[in-house]
Amino acid sequence: MNLTNMYRGIRLFALMSIVFATKENRRPVHIGFFLNDDDFFELSTVAITAVVRRVNQVSGTSYQLRPHIFRTTKSDILEAGLLACQRVKEGVAAIFGPESPEINEMIQSISSTLEIPQFQTFWNPKLRSRLSRQINPSPVFNLYPSPQSLAQALATLVRESDWKSYTVIYENDEGLLRLQEALNQRSMSDPAVSFRALGPKENHKSVLKEVKSSGVLHLIVDCEAGHIMDILRQAKELKLLSEFHSYILTNLDAHTLDWSEFKNVRTNITALRLVDTNKPNTQHAALVWNQILKYDILRNVKNPAIQKELVNYRKLNPVAEVLPNNIPIRIALLYDALNLFVSVLSKLNTEEEIIWESLSCETNETSSHGQRFSKALREKGREFELVVEPLTGAITSFDEMGYRKKYKLQIIELDSTKFRVTGTWDSDFPQEIQFKLSEEDRDTELKKKIQQRTFRVVSRLGDPYLMRRVDPHGRALYGNDRFEGYTMDLIGEICKPQNLNCSFTFEIVADGKYGNYDPKTKQWNGLIRELLDYKADLGICDLTITYERRKAVDFTLPFMTLGISILYAKAVKEPPELLSFSHPLSFEVWIYIATSYLIISMMMFLVARLNPNDWENPHPCNPCPTELENIWNVKNCFWLTMGSFMAQGCDILPKGISTRMVAAMWWFFTLIITACYTANMTAFLTMSRMGPTIESAEDLAAQTKIKYGCLGGGSTSSFFKDTNFSTYHRMWVQMESAEPSVFESNNKDGVKRVLTSKRKYAFLMESSSIEYEMERNCELMQVGNNLDSKGYGIAMPTNAPYRKSINEAILKMQEMGALHKLKDKWWKEMNGGGQCTKDKSGDIETAEMGLDNVGGVFVVLAVGVALAFMIAVCEFLWNVRKVAVVERLTPKEALIKEIRFAMDIRSRKKVVSTPSRAISLENIDR
Ligand code: ASP
Repeated sequence: MNLTNMYRGIRLFALMSIVFATKENRRPVHIGFFLNDDDFFELSTVAITAVVRRVNQVSGTSYQLRPHIFRTTKSDILEAGLLACQRVKEGVAAIFGPESPEINEMIQSISSTLEIPQFQTFWNPKLRSRLSRQINPSPVFNLYPSPQSLAQALATLVRESDWKSYTVIYENDEGLLRLQEALNQRSMSDPAVSFRALGPKENHKSVLKEVKSSGVLHLIVDCEAGHIMDILRQAKELKLLSEFHSYILTNLDAHTLDWSEFKNVRTNITALRLVDTNKPNTQHAALVWNQILKYDILRNVKNPAIQKELVNYRKLNPVAEVLPNNIPIRIALLYDALNLFVSVLSKLNTEEEIIWESLSCETNETSSHGQRFSKALREKGREFELVVEPLTGAITSFDEMGYRKKYKLQIIELDSTKFRVTGTWDSDFPQEIQFKLSEEDRDTELKKKIQQRTFRVVSRLGDPYLMRRVDPHGRALYGNDRFEGYTMDLIGEICKPQNLNCSFTFEIVADGKYGNYDPKTKQWNGLIRELLDYKADLGICDLTITYERRKAVDFTLPFMTLGISILYAKAVKEPPELLSFSHPLSFEVWIYIATSYLIISMMMFLVARLNPNDWENPHPCNPCPTELENIWNVKNCFWLTMGSFMAQGCDILPKGISTRMVAAMWWFFTLIITACYTANMTAFLTMSRMGPTIESAEDLAAQTKIKYGCLGGGSTSSFFKDTNFSTYHRMWVQMESAEPSVFESNNKDGVKRVLTSKRKYAFLMESSSIEYEMERNCELMQVGNNLDSKGYGIAMPTNAPYRKSINEAILKMQEMGALHKLKDKWWKEMNGGGQCTKDKSGDIETAEMGLDNVGGVFVVLAVGVALAFMIAVCEFLWNVRKVAVVERLTPKEALIKEIRFAMDIRSRKKVVSTPSRAISLENIDR
């Protein structure tokens, strides 16, 4: 026998000696205790001692408690049965325990058959099945919360936790049974649940890895208290213990463990507790138990040799101190059960003295007090007044099966190294949890925690969201100083004291991607990957909120709204042409007009010659003219058509129906042509930029000359890929099949391609980025409206506790105009912004028509007038020749005479050259 065993033996002996030490001659009440042979055996005996001593010391009682404690192991079933029968023979008043379900089968059956009260302190779902076989109500009482109500408590807790989906990790079938009860109460709308058995091995990593890869963040862990730490330790190694995870531990002893190694863990670990550790009576009990544990044994051992040895043993093995928060539930229940028994005993004894009969396991004789106990303990609504205040809350009556009816569970949450109470579940109101902390309290608490933290922000480079900063003095920059941009300012604003009062560190995502899901590998890349791996707390860039991404991570409210649009290069400014006035009509049309002019004029001439109405009397006073004349010579015909084409009219007009018809048709023609010309003239003269035009995505999709593409692997490409809209789908097919590829790895490259491709490439980009580029590069333009509407949000791992706070900060900033200001700063002011706004005002000036645009008209005028002058000179010379002949002057004389006359601007009359003074022209010609 080693020292420990010897010591234990002595302790049992010592315990008995306490009990039997009283000299008074009271009636002994024998009680059998079947305790587990484990680490808590000692504490159980201490708890029994505490009650026994208290009861036995009360003067006036006619009985004296005599505990008989048996240490049992799981394999001792037969031995336990024999021991129980032996006690039965001695007239045992009640049996407590055992603590292991295996032995319980035997003990429970003896006590039920002989109707000896039995008090159980463990989770026992089997009481129910016994009920049907029992004639009298069973004298078996279980102080542990009934499986059904405990399951209800768990179900309510899960529902209140608002979990979307969760995984149950269980250790054995008993656990599964326990949780199944909880799951039976689920409704269709309850979160999705999956199960994973831990298996007998101590290495649970494979199961935990499966949990991790499933992406589940909420777990219910059902295992022995002694295994909790092991499981959580392994979970921590696998990064399953982040602030985004939450756990519910079903073991009611979770609070008794040493949680110091999880001090810095931010995971929400919730458990249930029956023992109210904060109550003064629990603290008092712990104090008494400590005393018993430390001194009583030594005091009661009379043999000096053994005493010395015990002292030495204590020195080497100091007894762990009993604290209110490390009292295991089964010991607390044992304490309360004994307490309850004694109180009921006193009560019944005063009513009618109880006789403890010696019974036998071999006969069917039953105890006379068993039924009295059964009745008393099942009395409806009865609350028992116990000798010492119970550790597990008030004990009222038991149900027909023997389960404790009313009780309260504390909802406790790990806070650093200790649990704190956050709510209470009452078996009377099983569907609700009374939370101690209001939503506001929780928010305030959370905010306090956020204030102390540094957010790890992951981003990607892209103007103006995040850009590398260059030190003006050429010094190397470190940390956040390396970057600048909109997102940096945004998080800076969020972390300001008036908002979250936090700090942050920026890192660039390794692959430079936004975050795309690859269905083949079933993996995410980019920012989303970093967040899923918990390498970062926040992902901030021009990251679009999409449905697919939202399934993997959480987003804040959008801080910017936008849509996909087309970025295209403006047409190159053409220098205005001299004859640009002719542009409203094509050259072809001008030729046709000229030809029509000739034809119609000639037509007019011919028709007029044919038409008798146009042959007129040259002397209207002569009623019988000998000859008629026709004014419609070729010259006049051309003059009429010209006059009407120029919208000036003509002083001679046709008289015949056919000639009028020709003239009318020509006027109609000129009316339409002039109207068309005038309408087009404005547009053509003011339009300084020419070239192929697209006005919408439909235009783009309908042609093949201009190639178009977008950023590869982003939300823009996903939009086209996943769309149901036929035009956009067609565009996607075009983009995919285009050679060379029309996809770019970032917006910058897309913009460059638009600028260099001479209007042969359009880039589908998000409107906010288009706006940014258009502010700086006036050669760029946005074509058409946005194709969709969406927003940029800050991404974070699902279930992030700081999401609400960041949302609030964003809303606040939006309302105060801070977001607008930020955008203005990075879009219009920084990095050469606002350039094209100036240019736009210049555009208005250039909208006025300059000499360049109408110069051609002046040229036509000048050429026309010059031509007219030359003709005038010709006509003049012709006239000079005529004058010279008629007046018989030399050409020179005639020329001088005519020039003189022409120059004399005062002379308004000219003398006609008379033939008398002239030689007949015919003679000269001859
Ligand atoms: N902002 C986009 C994203 O988050 C990038 C793009 O596709 O234009 O993927």
